[in-house]
Amino acid sequence: MGTRSKSHSGPPQGSLSEGPIRSCIGCGSRKAQVELTRVALDPAGEVVVDRERRLPGRGSYLCGAGCLTAALKRKAFGRAFRGKAGKVDPSKLGQAWESDSGP
Ligand SMILES: [Zn+2]
Repeated sequence: MGTRSKSHSGPPQGSLSEGPIRSCIGCGSRKAQVELTRVALDPAGEVVVDRERRLPGRGSYLCGAGCLTAALKRKAFGRAFRGKAGKVDPSKLGQAWESDSGP
């Protein structure tokens, strides 16, 4: 009569499930996907901000407008979209963050 319960199997530590982690193509920092803004190619091949994450295909991620500028300087879009990125309109892309002053 001996109840031996030595098997102590807890959940693995360090797994804060906040969803997938993505790298910002501007500054390269890794963050939870939900903290980043997705950019993708629209049907015409133009780089656009995909706030609703609805566009199909490859996407890239940015922290904010500052990283957009950094990404442009590094030509990160060309790399992120494997040379498929067509037009990049910085002012249009930047509006995605400028208009972020909701209630
Ligand atoms: Zn960034």
